[in-house]
Parts: sequence; structure tokens; C-alpha cells
Amino acid sequence: MTSLVTAGHRLQLNEIPYGPPPSVREALSRALASANRYPEFLPQRLPRLIAERLGCAPDRIVVGAGATGVIMHIVQEFGSGGAEVVMATPTFDGYPILVSMAGGRPVAVPLTGGGRQDLAALAAAVTERTRLVVVCSPHNPTGTLITPREFEDFLGEIPTSVTVVLDEAYVDFVAAGDRIDVFALLERYPNLLVLRTFSKAYGLAALRVGYGIGAPELIERVARWQLPFGMTALAEVAVRACYEAEPEIEARVAMLGEHRDRLTAGLRELGLCVPDSYANFSYLTVAGPQADAVATALAGADIHVKAYPTGIRITVGDRVATDAVLATVRSTVL
Ligand code: PMP
Repeated sequence: MTSLVTAGHRLQLNEIPYGPPPSVREALSRALASANRYPEFLPQRLPRLIAERLGCAPDRIVVGAGATGVIMHIVQEFGSGGAEVVMATPTFDGYPILVSMAGGRPVAVPLTGGGRQDLAALAAAVTERTRLVVVCSPHNPTGTLITPREFEDFLGEIPTSVTVVLDEAYVDFVAAGDRIDVFALLERYPNLLVLRTFSKAYGLAALRVGYGIGAPELIERVARWQLPFGMTALAEVAVRACYEAEPEIEARVAMLGEHRDRLTAGLRELGLCVPDSYANFSYLTVAGPQADAVATALAGADIHVKAYPTGIRITVGDRVATDAVLATVRSTVL
């Protein structure tokens, strides 16, 4: 049988290490029998399903092929024609790539030394040419969180003519008490767009389902770019089944949180600098020869991670993966 998964520990894409729960697999298997049928021309049922879950109106939801698909549509609408799009650097690679594809200009603002997005500098980078500002919470690659207070103050600094994307791809890993109340903010800031995905905590990365939440006028502008028949029928089936398997999903998220904290603590015990992560990865703040040594050792142990100029992002895998990472990094620092 051909495997879709590379050998070694695949810790470079912030995937979870578990396949879908059995009930979700069964639902998907059943749905395969109708693979000869097209999905909806433009998705209606999936936004309805998500809206029902979130307790909002369906016209506040736009779905896409992963959050990446939604980002593509957002930048097609707001980031073309040389428009400036302000974002942190590093950030999720998709942002600079998609903005450039759409004909916009990414404006990159360095993180603070602690791996946090510099909200004051991001706000200060907004000019009359800026159409979009992007922040991620938790942030990719550092896992740091923006507090509700910080985010609200930030929104107050951004002109209402500029669309603010709050990317919450990893929000399911954040404790309920630490989350931003996005629905309260959406009432007050019609220029806010919140992004989420089923690729991370829900483990459906292969099926490509993400969505945006915003004011109906904004959602309509983004949805205008949707590809006809662009969302698979399996996406809807999987989301529905995941919602019904919520206790299992939550248990996995809790377990991954424990693995993450063990990974972070283990790396810190080796004297390495790792910001508190609220997502399913840890960020090792290393640069120069030490970063090269760690990256080389991990690659040699067949552990795949993602390197940045200021550090190395390591996705949280299972216990065996964490043990392998810690043993390998230990060998480079001792
Ligand atoms: N936003 C962030 C912050 C991400 O890290 C990612 C994926 N790594 C995405 C969006 C896109 O995820 P997907 O397209 O799989 O939903």
C-alpha cells in the first residue's frame, strides 16, 4: 500500500498525529459511495452547519479550501492592485505568498524579542495604501497569544477602512478563558474577519476546510471569489461527523496540550529559550551555529521541523516524537 506519510517524525506542518476518530472515518467511507455526484455549486449547507455550531447567522460565515482558500479569496478582494498588507514576520507563509500572488505588497513587521507580534508596530505600519492587516493568535510560528485586551486596543488603532484579519487557526488549543470573544468584537468592528480551520485540532488537513467569520457585507465580498464546486462533499460530511465526535476531539486536544507542555519544559531544561505556546507546536528561539547544529541533528534523526531565521518550529506529535526530539536536541547542547 502506498503511504501518504513520509518516514520519520513529520513535525513540520503543525498537523496533529492522529487520523480521524472511527465515527468520522465511517461517515467518510459511506460518503465515498456517492463520489460520482458533484457537491453544491456554491457551498450553502457547510456554512449553515458551522453557523449553527457557533450560534450565528449563516451569512456571517464563508468557507474555503482550508483557511488558505479563504485567505486567497480575502487577498483577491482586498490585497490586489499593489495594496499593502501589513503582517508580522515571520508569520504563516501563506500570507506573503498569497498576497504576492494576488498582486499586493506584503509589509512585514518583525516580532518582538519574545516572539510576540508587535501590535503597536503593526498599527504604525498602516498607511493610506493599506487595505489589510493580519494578526494570528496563537501566532505561527511562535505559539504566542494576543490577549483580548491587547486585541481590542489594537482594533481601536486601525482605521475602519482597513480590514483586520484575526487568524485563529489554532484557537481550539487555547483554554476557553484565554480566548478573544470574537462575536462581541464583530458586533462593534465590521472591518474584522476571523479565520478558523478544521486542519489543526479537528485533524482534517487533507480535506481542506476552513472558514471566515465576519459582518455579512464583508463575507459577501469574500464569498464572491469562491470557486464553483470548489468544496468537496466529503468536507461537509467530515465536519458534521467531527461535531458529533466533539468529546473525542477535545480529549485529543487536551492530550496534545500535555505533550506540548512536556516538549516545551524539556527544551527549557536544556537551557533553550522557548516562548509559552498556546498551539500544537513549540518554537525554539535559536539562531546562528546553534540553530544549524540543532537543525542538522534533527534532520539526521529523521525528524522534520521548520526552520526560520530566528528559530525552529517543532510540531507536537505523540509521546514517542517528543522523546525523539528531546533526545536529539539534548545531544546537541550537552
Ligand atoms: N493560518 C495559520 C496561522 C496557519 O498556520 C495555517 C496552516 N499552517 C493556515 C492558516 C492554513 O491552514 P489550512 O489551509 O490547512 O486551513
